[in-house]
Amino acid sequence: RRQLRSVRRAGLDLEAMATELNESYLAAEAGNRAKSQFMATMGHEVRTPLNAILGTAELLELQTLPQGMLAGVQTIRRSGNALLELINEILDYAKIEHGNVDVEMRPVGVRALAESTIEMVRDRASENGNLLELALPDNFTMPVILSDPTRLRQITLNLLSNAIKFTKDGVVTLRIAELVTSGPGCLRVEVSDTGIGIDNASIDKLFQPFSQVDSSISRKYGGTGLGLTICKQIVEAMDGRIGVESVRGKGSTFWFEIPVKPARIEESEDHGMHDAQA
Ligand code: ADP
Repeated sequence: RRQLRSVRRAGLDLEAMATELNESYLAAEAGNRAKSQFMATMGHEVRTPLNAILGTAELLELQTLPQGMLAGVQTIRRSGNALLELINEILDYAKIEHGNVDVEMRPVGVRALAESTIEMVRDRASENGNLLELALPDNFTMPVILSDPTRLRQITLNLLSNAIKFTKDGVVTLRIAELVTSGPGCLRVEVSDTGIGIDNASIDKLFQPFSQVDSSISRKYGGTGLGLTICKQIVEAMDGRIGVESVRGKGSTFWFEIPVKPARIEESEDHGMHDAQA
């Protein structure tokens, strides 16, 4: 009887614990929903006036301005753009943190995507005195794969922007290191730089939210420490892997690998090569 009583007591304890857990789970869920809602509203509220500032600065830049004024207007536009990028990154992270990574499969022309992505950062690379290169495997044709072009571009742009940011007067290379479309196919993309590099002790933390190698980095280079976390979440949503090899003072190679399938010919025709070349 005594044993039965202690089993019953343990059962009651467990039940109380389950109720408590359930309540705190529900409270956390409600909190998360409130947080997402807050982030979405805040994003909208901040972006609207910011877009007005950016639009006005762009219009002003087209006018003939008094001496010294153009530089000021350009600073407004550059700072506004930096702020917009920051807000977009924080909002993206807030969405992704809840496991909401939308991946939309479409035919993607790998070469065209790589070429157009590299063009998007060319100006920034030369501002930092960097040579920007695209390296493709030998005999690389124009394979069209089934993947998410927006997400692929987002990851690649993030890695390229970091490589450019942390490299001065060096070389930044975007390499399609591997592209196999038969069997369990694989796309491996590498972004190498000859920049400041990262010491071994910091490498493990890089893909965690808000991590920067040290606080002087954020003061000197800006950024949120969210870019790589976002990349990792997206790559994992695509069933892939992401990593880095780096030597302090020499440079880094960030890479990601995702499983890929070739796009069926009819599909690329249906959507038109226009899509595939996006
Ligand atoms: P952010 O660039 O906004 O700080 P990331 O998550 O993209 O955030 O990067 C996190 C940190 O990883 C950076 O602050 C920097 O310390 C380090 N890092 C990322 N890419 C490089 C690179 N190519 N070379 C050196 N350090 C890098």
